[in-house]
Amino acid sequence: MSSSQPYKCAVCGSDAPGRRYRIKGSKYICRDCRAKLDKDLSSGEWSRMNAAELKEFLSDKERLSMQKTCSFCGKEISADDMHKILLKDRSVLCGNCAGSMRIVRPVFNTVKSDGSGGYEPAADDPLKELTLEDVPWVQKEAAEERERRIARYGAHKAVFVVDDVTRYEDEDDAHEIYGTAVLGCIEKGDTLHIKRREGEYSKVVERIDPLEYDKKAVSLAEGCEGNLLVKGDVSFIYPGDVLTTERL
Ligand SMILES: [Zn+2]
Ligand SMILES: [Zn+2]
Repeated sequence: MSSSQPYKCAVCGSDAPGRRYRIKGSKYICRDCRAKLDKDLSSGEWSRMNAAELKEFLSDKERLSMQKTCSFCGKEISADDMHKILLKDRSVLCGNCAGSMRIVRPVFNTVKSDGSGGYEPAADDPLKELTLEDVPWVQKEAAEERERRIARYGAHKAVFVVDDVTRYEDEDDAHEIYGTAVLGCIEKGDTLHIKRREGEYSKVVERIDPLEYDKKAVSLAEGCEGNLLVKGDVSFIYPGDVLTTERL
């Protein structure tokens, strides 16, 4: 069948002529649907999803963009809220409400099959398994956990525990510090501090990469793992170190 023949898009049902794109299940989608998917997924990702999965993805996305107020706190959700989420019962939480529970429900960085024998980075968000009724008790659990961590680490804007320090290959004189924001949120431009016997060192966070494939990220949420990109000497930072940031 030539690509100029009419066909039905497996996602929106339009019989748009012209260029078509193959998805899982030997079906095709139209140019408009592809453009919508390209905003959030790589072509490798959407081409390995079937029509039902793609429809669900787009309807979740539409649901998230349509709702203007948080189902829990009732406040307006700002247009640039990167952390809003859709719960299992399809209610919508603003980034603040989602963030208040993150410390006990962090995003898991994992890998999934890339469909050709390899693996690619992926993320699982356990908050999306909750319903609106779960929010109060998970928030209570989170508040208790936060108190325990403040008792352990002290009160800081944020606390980051280092797992690993590696050279960042793509830029000169740059390193990635991998670890967990155990308390508070780490933001781009924050100054990390570490106390040593010989004195105190500090390092500015040039960039944040909470998920390897999320290049737009500007913060690492409380409780989550991620990479902090720093420049210059890092010989004073070791795995196991506790780095802190302070309010200015
Ligand atoms: Zn379509
Ligand atoms: Zn809210």
